[in-house]
Amino acid sequence: MSTIPRRKFIQLSAASAVGCLALSGRDAHAADLPRLTEDDPMAQAMRYKNDASSVDAASRNSPVTDQNCANCALIQGADGDAWRPCLIFPGKVVAAAGWCSVWAPKA
Ligand code: SF4
Repeated sequence: MSTIPRRKFIQLSAASAVGCLALSGRDAHAADLPRLTEDDPMAQAMRYKNDASSVDAASRNSPVTDQNCANCALIQGADGDAWRPCLIFPGKVVAAAGWCSVWAPKA
């Protein structure tokens, strides 16, 4: 039996499909991409924040407390970079210290 809630699975499936389409045929270079802003409509829809510690842990879907973009399965780019591409937000970079409601643990 899967431990991934159905809603999360659907979100991840849709996001992965969008990300694959957006990144196919070209490489995403983090330094060339604009930074995602918290007032971006897509960012607001996903409750994205530049600082994961500013998010109330009780409001998250997952009980895992140590959640940030750097330890999310959907982050791209190089470990250690402060801003990195993300499959959920194609064409932009997110803060490694950030968070959004689609966060998923790395396998
Ligand atoms: Fe992307 Fe994961 Fe950060 Fe959300 S938590 S913005 S999916 S890297």
